[in-house]
Amino acid sequence: MEDMLLMTPGPTMVPEEVKKVAGMQPFHHRTEEFYQLFSKLNENLKKIFQTKNEVITLTSSGTGGMEAAVANLFSAGDKVLVASIGYFGERFYDIARAYGLDAEIYDFGWGNAVDLDILEDKLKKGNYKALLVTHNETSTGVTNNIENIAKIANRYNVPVIVDAVSSLGGIPLKMDEWGIDAVITCSQKCLMSPPGLSFIALSDRAWEMTKTSNLPKYYFDLRKAREGVLKPKPDTPATPAVSTIMAVAKATDMLLEKGLDNVYKKQSEYGKKVRKYVKELGLDLLPSEEVASNLITAIKVPERYKASDIINYMKEKHRVLITGGQGPLKGKIIRIGHMGYLTDEMLDKALYALKDAISSL
Ligand code: PLP
Repeated sequence: MEDMLLMTPGPTMVPEEVKKVAGMQPFHHRTEEFYQLFSKLNENLKKIFQTKNEVITLTSSGTGGMEAAVANLFSAGDKVLVASIGYFGERFYDIARAYGLDAEIYDFGWGNAVDLDILEDKLKKGNYKALLVTHNETSTGVTNNIENIAKIANRYNVPVIVDAVSSLGGIPLKMDEWGIDAVITCSQKCLMSPPGLSFIALSDRAWEMTKTSNLPKYYFDLRKAREGVLKPKPDTPATPAVSTIMAVAKATDMLLEKGLDNVYKKQSEYGKKVRKYVKELGLDLLPSEEVASNLITAIKVPERYKASDIINYMKEKHRVLITGGQGPLKGKIIRIGHMGYLTDEMLDKALYALKDAISSL
């Protein structure tokens, strides 16, 4: 697998510098070395989340961060709205239901973004305790306009919980400025690191909500985790994935050195380039250009092909790994991830592999 180019929505490619750090002997987590590392990581994360509040590091995948948001902000029976545009919207709904919330899901359609008028109408009438929404719907390659969604939700005083698992650090998300109450992400996508960590930041209003939440929590108790982060020598309540913390500290240094605006610009160029190339091959995109993600591209598989054949051809012949569809889109689309660590050469290689698959199969 060492030679495989991962053009998937995570895990993504990890830069050499980060791999080197991730492969080192992990620090013990109750040592000066770790406290310094964790302080550094926490400072970097605040800059990337664009928040003044603490970012909490959890040893889990992104789903664990979503679960932590639900378990810490709500009480059984709380009425919440999940604005879903695909597989991961449905996952947020499932988590909310699993915790006994009175969750309602509104499906805006796989391949669409959230319709702001419909959303406003629902929030106006719904008396919801919160809105749960996905920033970048990885299953369909659609990016929601979170700035406008948050604006509407704030108009009706509804806290906004954002799954930014496949977006934070790749496309703009200004947590405080846009008035978002919880943002969740993970290590293995735009943050260019191995899997193992999720990250969650809460607004002041959301931290207030944690005081009255009565849902069971222990490992994912964010208030306990926050106490650790706020110590002069910050730590975590239990042993964290130290190697991944070392990796993300390095990777976030690299992102910040490059400058977030430069990263966003590059991602936007990659998104446009992929969509143009795909259209030139005569293929159709699942979403419209206006809502298409700059981090992952979902391509409709024409009748005469099998999705799995395209994926396997690219993998076996070119050592490029892309993914298929999820849920109802299984077999109907292929997805090319172009988030996180990517160079022009890597992208060109992937696009050529796609072209070769389409012309050879
Ligand atoms: N939310 C989104 C938007 C995702 O893309 C993913 C993973 O692809 C998840 C949640 C779940 O993350 P994980 O697989 O790290 O638990």
